[in-house]
Amino acid sequence: MTKYVFVTGGVVSGLGKGITASSIALLLKARGYKVFMQKFDPYINVDPGTMNPIQHGEVFVTYDGCETDLDLGHYERFIDEELNYSSNITSGKIYKSVIEKERKGEYLGATVQMIPHVTNEIKNKIIEAGVSSNADIVITEIGGTVGDIESLTFLEAIRQMQHELGNEEIFIVHTTLVPFIYGSEELKSKPTQNSVKDLTGLGIYPNALVLRAPFATPASLKLKISTFCSVPLENIIDSIDVKNIYEIPINYYNQKIDEIILKQFKLDLKKADLKEWQNLINTVNNLKDEVSIALVGKYIELHDAYISVIESLKHAGYKFNYKVNIKFIDAENLEKPDVNLKEIFKDVTGILVPGGFGSRGIEGKIKAIEYARVNDVPYLGICLGMQLAVIEFARHVCHLEDATSTEFKETCANPIIDLMADQKYILNMGGTLRLGNYECTISKNTLAYNLYKTDKILERHRHRYEFNNNYKKILEENGLVLSGINEASNLVEIIEYPHHKFFIASQFHPEFKSRPTRPHPLFVGFIKASINNKK
Ligand code: GLN
Repeated sequence: MTKYVFVTGGVVSGLGKGITASSIALLLKARGYKVFMQKFDPYINVDPGTMNPIQHGEVFVTYDGCETDLDLGHYERFIDEELNYSSNITSGKIYKSVIEKERKGEYLGATVQMIPHVTNEIKNKIIEAGVSSNADIVITEIGGTVGDIESLTFLEAIRQMQHELGNEEIFIVHTTLVPFIYGSEELKSKPTQNSVKDLTGLGIYPNALVLRAPFATPASLKLKISTFCSVPLENIIDSIDVKNIYEIPINYYNQKIDEIILKQFKLDLKKADLKEWQNLINTVNNLKDEVSIALVGKYIELHDAYISVIESLKHAGYKFNYKVNIKFIDAENLEKPDVNLKEIFKDVTGILVPGGFGSRGIEGKIKAIEYARVNDVPYLGICLGMQLAVIEFARHVCHLEDATSTEFKETCANPIIDLMADQKYILNMGGTLRLGNYECTISKNTLAYNLYKTDKILERHRHRYEFNNNYKKILEENGLVLSGINEASNLVEIIEYPHHKFFIASQFHPEFKSRPTRPHPLFVGFIKASINNKK
């Protein structure tokens, strides 16, 4: 039977609850257990798919096409497991399914209430995570901070589970802040005590506390916290600030958090295999050289909007012992008539255009792509970055000057990128893109084949528009290579330009599958070419 670890947070947000949850999952996996992760987000949106990336950051897509919170990306990168639709549950998703059940008459005339109907729905989603993943242990992070109105029903569901299943099945980790007060030069325990009081006031008794502090809390303070909060002293774990986040699981391991959980669950303490992770830490702490890449986007004021792309670039850098510096360039700035592209790109050796929606900044991105193509600067395009590379090529090489996407101009003479037929009559914005895994067949003797070393790949998608096959011939005649195709629907998935050091773009999002210990082939090729371009 699946066991459940819940990670709650108190005092303030932004304590690194997600990293704590992932680190616990990583350690339990290293001990030989099958793990799965889940996040509860208390907002009313059904999923973050329609939220503004500048406010909410990137939308991470699971293999089965669920649009999720960017924390899921951190989870996948830490635990190297593919998550699924039951990994990200929002209040909106819960309410939607409760209301749908009510409309179908499934509650048989009952008055539908927060308790038990909403809380039962939440419990079902928790159980479903265990069943759908067949995991030994599911680690669930509860978004928000204890005391928020929004997360009350989630906490109530956990309270019921702790009561119904007991300590052998449920383990609760509460993360809090231990602030350092300058002047009196002390770490303070009161916020932690108050936060645990809030939690126990809701009927939830934490089994372990994770204390976020600038340095390790002294034994005397831990003893005080242990006494006031009724948590055993050895179950109080320090989470100190680190330079390299990959060190966090090892810090927890040294404090035996995994042993404490497994002991409570009465599960065997198999030997932990952390060799690969330890090697990663050594690599990251000893990078030998640096390479600089331009990321030309429109949500650049919030780097989290591109978090998986940023991480994927870093992962590929690790492979060559390089630190990757990213120069974030606002695409709209490139649209100014007097812009000096040479000056802007002078300190980078590779250019990347990531995904995006809407017409703002696209002409600037096209300029950046043209600059990369004409000046033989390595280029990686992702999703919108592929669509714009095709438009740039059509305009400047095939002389289809008015080539564009119907996303930017509904009626245009040369809709090189157009809506898929099955998208034309869709009215709802949420969850209706082409989402998740689709197969792609790669032609031999192409850059794509050279990078992937296989002709069948599965990659994750999130887009509504497609390469328009009516323009296949003219683009190919002018030298563009369509190296990856989804055969089932005859859709172009990868394009490349062979008369170039490295010019490749994909309709899918490779960044969702990159891992720190297993960088993605497209990013590896791009970073390698960008390093070589330095020399
Ligand atoms: N806006 C484009 C589309 O919907 C590209 C999407 C993306 O880059 N993720 O097809």
